[in-house]
Amino acid sequence: MTFQYCPHCGAKAIPRETGDEGLVPWCDACKRPLFPMFSTCIIALAVDEEGNVALLRQGYISSQYHVLVSGYMKPGESAEECAAREIQEELGLSVSRLAMTGTYWFEKKDMLMIGFAARVRRRDFRLSGEVDQAVWVAPDKALSLLHPAPAISYLVTEHYLRHPEILEARG
Ligand SMILES: [Zn+2]
Repeated sequence: MTFQYCPHCGAKAIPRETGDEGLVPWCDACKRPLFPMFSTCIIALAVDEEGNVALLRQGYISSQYHVLVSGYMKPGESAEECAAREIQEELGLSVSRLAMTGTYWFEKKDMLMIGFAARVRRRDFRLSGEVDQAVWVAPDKALSLLHPAPAISYLVTEHYLRHPEILEARG
């Protein structure tokens, strides 16, 4: 989202040469640059002790494909805290280890997504109202249930399946 008006005081933004960034909208009343704004979300693949992965059905996202846990970051929260919170909220599972799979720009929603694989202790799901259904899936079945790449769910899962060692204890 590119600002036409200052979100702090409502003054009209004016383009101004800003360092290496080139022309950036500027609020002359607040004396601050108004860099384009976008949402930041996490997307997380929950993995049990045996390497099975938790996939979700969320009718409001897709009727055809499974999806991963995802959610908006809250101000003051780290991406890791957000991923653990969302897995707890959506699936009712506790996270013992997190590893980043990458970061992804989601063009359709103007959104930065931070991808994680998360080790969880397997137990019965306690689903949030946002989740219609969740299933444990063997690793070799997971990709066939997801929207093909470049869907971000697919990229996160594929990264984990290629590098399962990212969830192993080190040192
Ligand atoms: Zn302002």
